[in-house]
Amino acid sequence: MKFSTKAIHAGQGADPATGATIVPIYQTSTYTQEAVGVHKGFDYSRTANPTRRALETQLAALENARFGCAFSSGVAATAAVVGLLSSGDHVIVSDDLYGGTYRLFSNVFGRYGLQFTYMDMTDPEAVRKALRPSTKMIWIETPTNPMLTLVDIRAIANAAPDLIIAVDNTFATPYFQQPLELGADVVVHSTTKYIGGHSDVVGGAAITDDKDLYEAIKFQQNSAGGVPGPHDAWLTMRGAKTLALRMREHERNAMAVAQFLEARTDVDRVYYPGLASHPQHELAKRQMTGFGGMVSFTLKGDDARALAFANTLKYFSLAESLGGVESLICHPARMTHGSIPKEERERRGLTDRLLRLSVGIEDISDLIGDLQSALEAQQPLTAPA
Ligand SMILES: *Cc1c(COP(=O)(O)O)cnc(C)c1O
Repeated sequence: MKFSTKAIHAGQGADPATGATIVPIYQTSTYTQEAVGVHKGFDYSRTANPTRRALETQLAALENARFGCAFSSGVAATAAVVGLLSSGDHVIVSDDLYGGTYRLFSNVFGRYGLQFTYMDMTDPEAVRKALRPSTKMIWIETPTNPMLTLVDIRAIANAAPDLIIAVDNTFATPYFQQPLELGADVVVHSTTKYIGGHSDVVGGAAITDDKDLYEAIKFQQNSAGGVPGPHDAWLTMRGAKTLALRMREHERNAMAVAQFLEARTDVDRVYYPGLASHPQHELAKRQMTGFGGMVSFTLKGDDARALAFANTLKYFSLAESLGGVESLICHPARMTHGSIPKEERERRGLTDRLLRLSVGIEDISDLIGDLQSALEAQQPLTAPA
């Protein structure tokens, strides 16, 4: 089965009980047993639920893997994977990453004695040098949020063959990037974003082709209990059916927006892996089959100008999150990445002038028209930026 077929068929055969063509929402917490221990494979919905299982099968198939665990959020999936480690273990983490992941690692797991080193992973040799005897896991986000920096997954996996390589594949989605094929051991998703795709449900997933790793993550899932309810699982599964279609359109629109912004004299820098000006454009072409729907950029002028611009847009809603069919704009320093200390943010290029677009699948002429009017509505630049 190819990608688009799996999205629609994997885990989603007719319901064995009723013949329902679409997987039903099994809104039940428990299952009646014929005799003690005699049942159809389900005994309690934290442990397993047929709707959730269908989603897990679908998502695993999209990453070309055998095993998937669905969670109530992306951070719950991240917590389950990092929860495999023990006090004293060391993790190397990409230094530009989702703010909530940084918060979970530093402020929660840090208190339990796990050690985290945040570093620029664009140099695999530097990663090799940072390995310690206690290093157990490498946590990669690529492309990163919000700077859209890439990490060479294969090079990092080769630099640390014995460690668990975990990749947060939320930005690229399995449609554009298959980390397990590149040597990763486990893929994590915030399914809230592109996989769900309609900004109407929060969820997460951890996917692997390694049976032992799967058993350990499933143990975490059942023990810590961050599972999605059947209705959320169903919404996510429905969204994922059209992932391929949506991603093609997101990418087409994002490329047009990135090119439009790059040509403007009032725009300072544009960060999009699909632009030839992106420092890792060659890696993007090698590692990904498309460049995704996220575009970050800095306007010339000060942060007040950036905020005024964001407030003037009509079709790009000022909102956190990303990956839905509708376009969004966010000011990472004050919104999604506010939990990262300012010096740490600036070191990563995440200035107060940075804006991040989640380019939706509206008509491209409306999106570009909106950006153009909002740019032209700003005060002319007086001093050189
Ligand atoms: C949103 C996001 C997360 C966290 O997912 P939630 O579903 O919000 O818990 C993790 N990683 C990335 C890259 C994200 O964008």
